[in-house]
Amino acid sequence: RAALLPSLEAGLNEDQMRALHHGEGPALVLAGAGSGKTTVLTRRIALLLAEGVPAESIFVATFTKKAADQMGERLAALLGEGGEAIIEKLWIGTFHAHCLRLLKSEFTTLYGKQAGFFQIADENWQVRVAKAILGDKDWMGRGLPSPPFGLNVAFDPKSALSAVSAVKNRGFKVTEAERAFREHEPNWGDGTIQTLCKFWRCYEQAKLAKFDILAKKPSRRLDFDDLLVETLELLQEQPEIRAKYQAKFQYLLIDETQDTSAVQWEIARILSAVHRNLFIVGDVGQAIYSFRGCSPEATVGQFASAFPNGDIIRLPANYRSSATIVRVANELIGNSGMDSRYRLEMASTRDHGAEPVTLEHEDAEGEAKHVAESLKAHKDSGESLKDCAVLFRTNAYSRALEEAFVANGVPYVLEGALGFYGRKEVRDLVAFLQLSVERDSPAADEAVKRVINVASKSYGKPTHYLGGAFIAELETQAARHGWSLYKTLTNGQFKTWQGLAVRDFREMVKQVAQAGESAEARMRKAREIGYDDWLLREEGHVEDEGNSRLDNLEELCVSCAAFPTAQDFLNFVAAQNKATENVEAGDAVEMMTIHRAKGLEWPIVFVVGFAFGMIPHHRSLRWFDEEKTQLQGDSIEEERRLAYVAITRAKEHVTLSWPLQHQTRVLSRSPFLKEMVSLLAMPERVVKKVETEDAEETA
Ligand code: ATP
Ligand code: MG
Repeated sequence: RAALLPSLEAGLNEDQMRALHHGEGPALVLAGAGSGKTTVLTRRIALLLAEGVPAESIFVATFTKKAADQMGERLAALLGEGGEAIIEKLWIGTFHAHCLRLLKSEFTTLYGKQAGFFQIADENWQVRVAKAILGDKDWMGRGLPSPPFGLNVAFDPKSALSAVSAVKNRGFKVTEAERAFREHEPNWGDGTIQTLCKFWRCYEQAKLAKFDILAKKPSRRLDFDDLLVETLELLQEQPEIRAKYQAKFQYLLIDETQDTSAVQWEIARILSAVHRNLFIVGDVGQAIYSFRGCSPEATVGQFASAFPNGDIIRLPANYRSSATIVRVANELIGNSGMDSRYRLEMASTRDHGAEPVTLEHEDAEGEAKHVAESLKAHKDSGESLKDCAVLFRTNAYSRALEEAFVANGVPYVLEGALGFYGRKEVRDLVAFLQLSVERDSPAADEAVKRVINVASKSYGKPTHYLGGAFIAELETQAARHGWSLYKTLTNGQFKTWQGLAVRDFREMVKQVAQAGESAEARMRKAREIGYDDWLLREEGHVEDEGNSRLDNLEELCVSCAAFPTAQDFLNFVAAQNKATENVEAGDAVEMMTIHRAKGLEWPIVFVVGFAFGMIPHHRSLRWFDEEKTQLQGDSIEEERRLAYVAITRAKEHVTLSWPLQHQTRVLSRSPFLKEMVSLLAMPERVVKKVETEDAEETA
């Protein structure tokens, strides 16, 4: 301990020292962004270990696996030699990972080997089952029994799943379904509520089924929410197991506590009830997961009611960002309607630094070009691209940036999403476009296989499913005659029902080809005559953390408008795919949604799409009253916190930019800019309009 202490205390201020040496008992560290919460939490783990607390009795919850890995590395560095072996024994990871581990060992003890075996119901499985529950009996051509399958209602499977997930995270049980949904979304009508209640019951039943009809094998499944819910039930209902873990975990530490759900919180509370050493750190100003049932008020409220005498420690100083960035961030979050007892102004510890830059662009292309050129200049001056990050609200926004980066030779990594042209729905629509241009060429064979079921599923009853056996037969016939797959569809011999599906598909391809010369017209046609419907039935439509398939499709249709013919655009996509294939990892700029960037930091940050309609997102403006000049409402509050998270990622430089047009929407600067009053006072030079060059010149 004596050897380690100086390095653990090095540089810490008085408040951080207090948190580090908190000792026994519950504590909540409440502080703004970049105030050293994660730093203190990490050092505190090292201190506990140095004091001889056994590693296996320390429970650490981080928000993501990436954060857990990063913390592990920092710990290893702090502990020095032999550190890694100690870290192995810690319980450090996400709540989900911990619950999985706990369930795996306890289920077997409880129910024997047989029941100890369960599978994870991943998203793929969930969506398939949800469709089977909501759809008609013949869904996917399999005679699924009903109940629990076949409610025969028009309801988006992913919306149903996310509604269920939201109420489960709030701690509701399926027996309380009706009350749960009414509380969750007071605006839903009775019909919706009843459907969801039925859906939830069927869904729980489907997971319990001793025999998985879809996989045709014995099973018992738990989805990601169940990992938490089942763990909580186990702890609540099995006194021996509860006592065992309460004795085991002498210390619990939780990072990003503002985004722990009600169920997670309850697990932590129970686990810490005996030793009462719960040390949690968070910033209510950064709560951005209300769609998962987290709220800033709950964070503090839950702690205060569970531990009325718990210690609340505040860290008032920001160490991450320059004084200017801290000032601007303070101004922004100062507009929030949050209880000011929980949120305090950050003091800055650093020099003034560079003024934040605000830039208005004609369109997203111009904005992307500017970011790419700035990064290229940065790289050319010998600086590292690892110092830079580009943050956006939605993943669809990566398209223009990726293209500009490729054009400028700027290596990038996209965190948490596939590259734009690699995304499923984008590839599907490009496949239709390719078929419209060269359907009879063998080059289009992959495209045929990719989208052959789109038409047959979107016309009428989705009973015709051309599966693997059909494709194999198609390929055999094609090889026999030396035809392309599409030509084989036209001239081959198939069963009658297959012939109907093939006819629908060919009809769809034909209509797409006749929609006009431009790629945009053709892809829009494909969407209109079936692709969007198919995608919605196939995938459902849920937007969280900035993922939206429809948004990607819209982005694709807009992006190709600059190309005179469909062939030109196909050539471009091929070149783009090739360019992104060969990007070697190494010195690259990181791109991700703001949600993903939580807890991270970079010297240079570009926040793009800082526009009204993006941040705040137009979907959050449902209750926005045009008459009111003040932005308000829960979802606006959350959007403001999102903007705050984005800006506070930057250490030295932050650029906020926005296009005046994105896709088909006309945008204006984000109203949050006005809330950062010192930006307004800044000289005109920083708010300038960057003209996009002529299209010809860019091409
Ligand atoms: P966030 O709310 O964004 O998660 P945080 O409160 O967890 O932020 P940290 O990531 O721990 O903050 O720290 C932010 C930065 O400040 C890090 O680079 C960290 O090394 C540095 N830092 C923290 N405390 C000090 C200190 N006392 N002296 C110097 N630098 C510090
Ligand atoms: Mg942190």
